[in-house]
Amino acid sequence: MDRHAQVIDVDGLQLLIEVLASRGYTVMGPTVRDGAVVVAPVAGVADLPRGLRDEQDAAHYRLVPRDDDAFFGHAAAVQGAKPVLFPADQLLWRARRSEDGFRLDASDDDDAAPVALLGARSCDLAAVDIHDEVLLRRRFSDAHYAQRRAGTFVVAVTCGDPAGTCFCASTGTGPRPGAGFDLLLTELLEPVHRFLVEVGSVRGAEVLAEVPAAPAGPGDLAAADDVVVRATGRMGRVLETEGLRDVLYAAAESPHWDDVASRCLACTSCTLVCPTCFCTSVEDVADLTGDVAERHRVWDSCFSKDFAYIHGGSLRGETRSRYRQWITHKLAAWQDQFGMLGCVGCGRCITWCPAAIDITAEAAALRAATPLVTTGEGARR
Ligand code: SF4
Ligand code: SF4
Repeated sequence: MDRHAQVIDVDGLQLLIEVLASRGYTVMGPTVRDGAVVVAPVAGVADLPRGLRDEQDAAHYRLVPRDDDAFFGHAAAVQGAKPVLFPADQLLWRARRSEDGFRLDASDDDDAAPVALLGARSCDLAAVDIHDEVLLRRRFSDAHYAQRRAGTFVVAVTCGDPAGTCFCASTGTGPRPGAGFDLLLTELLEPVHRFLVEVGSVRGAEVLAEVPAAPAGPGDLAAADDVVVRATGRMGRVLETEGLRDVLYAAAESPHWDDVASRCLACTSCTLVCPTCFCTSVEDVADLTGDVAERHRVWDSCFSKDFAYIHGGSLRGETRSRYRQWITHKLAAWQDQFGMLGCVGCGRCITWCPAAIDITAEAAALRAATPLVTTGEGARR
């Protein structure tokens, strides 16, 4: 990455949003809705969650005032890029009855304006990279995702104040975005409110050229580095990843699954907020006249009973099997399947689980309860 960084002020941030809009992007950034920071269209800095911090813990989320004016003083939004690039409901096609049969319309969902993601966090970019691997880089690619992804402009932000449920430092996916952005902002509050801007692409440089900016000095760069150091030291959770794949495989018949199942409601919330989960189902809908029929792809979840339904029964009829499937896929099988962890340490599944089930605590409990495992790579816990 080019670290010939520049500095913009708050007016520059406003202008950056306006430049992106003038280039035809729908700017999607953090904003407050129903007492939470969500990703939604923003027209300017007035829409950003200024002076707010998110207090997050297992089954707990509150917005509280900060003692400064930070625009990005919160951790990851309730959902990240997933609903933007991989919508919960994607129209695949629409069929209309005609005199000689029926006519298929292409999905009109893909005609939407390209999106500029403002304020994307490092965990979110890591999750997008996972979706790129799953949905773009393999033998078959997802045309709808490819179209949205190709047009997306990313303005990432370095996390300065991780939440109590964050653990991206454990998964190696944060807090500083390393790739996958066009521009990277690091918000600096002292002695004056400003943003260090680093360029990650040619189009990022073109956009920044339209915003008044000054070259960053050594003090700006040092302050931005300090934001990363402090954020790394303030992660709310830790996930021990060494040997975790072997631990989970060895724990396949652990009695601990019954313990989790006694708490888990199989509500699917964790999979819906998870930025890496990509399982879907297909739903066909017809209107009352029978003249129009649509096929939609909708998010599904391995916690739903029907998800594993084949030939007259569900493979995973019990909650213990579903939780085991979810965490084993995320932290173990995903490594064999895609060559990476399926978890980016965003902590959303912990915050938004109504039963306060914590993936880091469950992984630690399984590790503690699982005897030493010997693999070809040596003994591991
Ligand atoms: S782990 Fe929590 S969020 Fe996930 S299905 Fe169970 S109760 Fe719902
Ligand atoms: S499993 Fe939980 S912590 Fe990991 S990426 Fe998904 S929501 Fe975030």
